[in-house]
Amino acid sequence: MKKSARDTPMMRQFLAIKANYPDAIVFYRMGDFYEMFMRDAEVAAPLLDIALTTRDRGKEDAIPMCGIPVHAAAPHIKRLADLGHRVAICEQVEDPKIAGGKRLVRREVVEVVTPGLVGDPDAIEGIHEPCLASLAIGMGSQVGLAILDASTGELRATQVDSIDGSIPPSVLEELGRVDPREILTDGSSTELTSLFASLLPNAAVTIIAASGFDPSTCTDRPEGFDAGSNEVCMRAAAALLSYVRENQPFALSHTSRLRVYQLTDAMILDAATRTHLELFRNTEDGGRARTLIDRLDLTMTALGARRLARWLAYPLIDIDAIRRRQDAVASLSARDRLRLRLRDALKPIRDLERLLAKAARPGATPRDLAALRNSLEGLPQIAAALDSGDGELLAPGVDGEPDAGGGLSPPVPVGDIARLLREGLIDDPPAIPKGSRGANETGYIRDDFRPELDALRGGVDKGRDWIAGFEARERERTGIPTLKIRFHPVHGYGIEVTKTHLGRIPDDYERKQTLANAERFTTEELRGVEHSVKGGTEQAASLEREIFEELRLAVMDRAAAIREAASVVARLDALAALAEVGRRDGWVRPLVDDSVMLEIRGGRHPVVEPLLSAGGGEFVPNDVDLDSAGNQILVLTGPNMSGKSTYLRQVALTVLLAQMGSFVPADSARVGIVDRVFTRVGASDRLARGESTFMVEMRETAEILANATRRSLVILDEIGRGTSTFDGLSIAWAVAEYIHDAAGLGARTLFATHYHELADLAQTKRRVANAHFEAREWGEEVIFMRRLRAGAANRSYGIQVARLAGLPKTVIERAREILANLENGELDDRGRPRIAGIALENEPDCDQLGLFSVVRPAAEPGRDRESLAFGTEEVISMLERQVLARLEEMDPDQTTPLDALALLAELGKRLHEARENKV
Ligand code: ADP
Ligand code: MG
Repeated sequence: MKKSARDTPMMRQFLAIKANYPDAIVFYRMGDFYEMFMRDAEVAAPLLDIALTTRDRGKEDAIPMCGIPVHAAAPHIKRLADLGHRVAICEQVEDPKIAGGKRLVRREVVEVVTPGLVGDPDAIEGIHEPCLASLAIGMGSQVGLAILDASTGELRATQVDSIDGSIPPSVLEELGRVDPREILTDGSSTELTSLFASLLPNAAVTIIAASGFDPSTCTDRPEGFDAGSNEVCMRAAAALLSYVRENQPFALSHTSRLRVYQLTDAMILDAATRTHLELFRNTEDGGRARTLIDRLDLTMTALGARRLARWLAYPLIDIDAIRRRQDAVASLSARDRLRLRLRDALKPIRDLERLLAKAARPGATPRDLAALRNSLEGLPQIAAALDSGDGELLAPGVDGEPDAGGGLSPPVPVGDIARLLREGLIDDPPAIPKGSRGANETGYIRDDFRPELDALRGGVDKGRDWIAGFEARERERTGIPTLKIRFHPVHGYGIEVTKTHLGRIPDDYERKQTLANAERFTTEELRGVEHSVKGGTEQAASLEREIFEELRLAVMDRAAAIREAASVVARLDALAALAEVGRRDGWVRPLVDDSVMLEIRGGRHPVVEPLLSAGGGEFVPNDVDLDSAGNQILVLTGPNMSGKSTYLRQVALTVLLAQMGSFVPADSARVGIVDRVFTRVGASDRLARGESTFMVEMRETAEILANATRRSLVILDEIGRGTSTFDGLSIAWAVAEYIHDAAGLGARTLFATHYHELADLAQTKRRVANAHFEAREWGEEVIFMRRLRAGAANRSYGIQVARLAGLPKTVIERAREILANLENGELDDRGRPRIAGIALENEPDCDQLGLFSVVRPAAEPGRDRESLAFGTEEVISMLERQVLARLEEMDPDQTTPLDALALLAELGKRLHEARENKV
């Protein structure tokens, strides 16, 4: 029978291993490569863009294979995991030398990388938390959620009552916020699985046997985990822990204690709000530029950056917790020297959580531990910086919870472990990739650390010295001046004597090797010394590996303390960053209380303001006055481009900043606690995103009406836009009324709309007020004042904006004509508006024309004639533009002196008018 390509000892071993990991791509270690075979190779090769070859080419059942070098494996593994695959890392678990080349090396899967358990922290960006989530549905009516960030070991869980056995919206929102890469469920609900697919398209769903959710069978019990409990959050955590045990058992040693948290402890931010407010990603390209987090993140460490992002994702709603954070920010903000010293001290601290995760891996290198040591050694400087705080007492840290408030406290002392690593490891040890050629590299354990190692090294040194002196001794003894001691990697040491001197060699020389021109010899003594040097070196190397492993375990023993120190560093760094931003940019500490007010004086948009000033512009500050019991709803009208959307977002962002404990960009602010911010943006503002826009808009709006409370802040920007004018207007109107009237509501609301008709709502609804962004017309120009005024807008200036945008002159002129007709109410013989002689078939749905929207001047006496002086700058820039335009129009060759005089007179008159402010 022809021998099959599969019928070799190696392939048999592979197939046996593969049988245990049918759903993973097996990375089979062969020397310096990971090889993939058969189906695994066919799947992986195109994804990794590597060549697919075959083993035993020519045989009928030749085996497809591909491979990657071990040292370059990390990004490939991450790539496969990102694409939703599982990767089983199968290592050689015995030294090939022991196997003696006679039999196959033993191999075992040491780690399974899954989408949510990307093991090697090096493969992950600093801030991103690639989470693994686990969802448990209780027997009663509760849903539990557990979350693990495997790159930092942070473990938390929560549970929520479910009314009808379905997943409560708050859990779905939390999943959206956490954005896990992988979700574990027991698979009992196919509905759930498809829900995940639509809600979290980037997450892999992994089905776990229902028994995995039983806390009592869970062998790993971190602090905070209650194996006796049948609480549904413990069930979720149990599944998660068992999953880690099964796939990356080593990772359990750096997992934090289980923190049980309540979703009601933080403000709810739904996906639409997170998106519209551009907290973490901008809407243009999904990047970090121009986002709030980018604006705030002046942290010095990855630890701090992650903590700050966490604070922004979970704004607080407990007033005391907010005030504690504010106190800490304030005390750092007030003391520039302290802050500077603290931030300097934070700078060299590397990502302790991820270094700990690396130390937990069996493949940790001496360099990893040294990096951890160096960062631990930086901690006393942080404590010293805090101590130097002008002699004032700093509020002690109240707890180690990452999300609670908390004052400034020096990091937990972990000097013992830093010292141990300093004594044990040399200053700059090598990175030795596990099992690679450099694995026998030695010398990273410091002298004087372990007497046994010193003794071995001493013996080796003595032997080497003896060999070094041997040449001189032998020359003298034999009288051969050219005698040399040579070293050959295979044959070892030899006494080399050239042919001419062979006659003089002593009797005790034993021939070892013959070269073209010379012979090499050894002696019994040399052989003995050589043997002990070689043995000593090997013993020393293996002792170093042992000592290293001891050090690694000592680190893991102190993992909890290191995590706690890291947590303090993270908190200090995040606080100092907030203090730095606030101080640098003139922000103020907002008063946060349990009122239902929102009062901001001189508020600015945290992201737009610096962008504008970078471009030489100036942001115009504005006030806010909302009050559930008074001005509950502000209807904001005004032309396109006048600043409505900016204002709306500015208000929402200010509230988020205030509740995360930050200072805010304003002259003063009072924020009555907000339980939830809803931000909705009208469909046509989002056409670019290619959603079924109107439907999405309406669904989101429905959610507000169902969930907003008296404490909520509702931001509605041009809702109702995605349908025809009258539909849209009616919907917008009804929504505003509902927010005003419906029981349980009373939510503070900002409603920007281009439907000027909505201004009339204030006449019938007591808690509705009007405001507009002022624009001024001057000649052909429209000037946006960016200033919020009481009362509704009376013009939309659409045509001026169209002109600014460069629409052809003829179109603009024609538009003016039509507008004039419409405004004069010229009707055709059937009583419908007549447009320059053309009778309309339907009512003029002018808003469908976008820019040319028609405004019915709202009757509100004394509102729009309020006189306001133009700022000098605005007048000058307007004048400049007009003068330049007039001069440009002029052709000197065609201009008579009289024309020129007339022009001068005209320009002079305009200037005069501008001075008089008669525009
Ligand atoms: P709208 O929603 O009314 O159409 P936007 O809020 O989109 O207007 O603002 C239009 C432009 O005006 C934006 O480019 C923005 O940068 C600028 N802007 C808005 N508010 C201000 C302000 N308070 N000061 C200066 N510029 C502003
Ligand atoms: Mg807008």
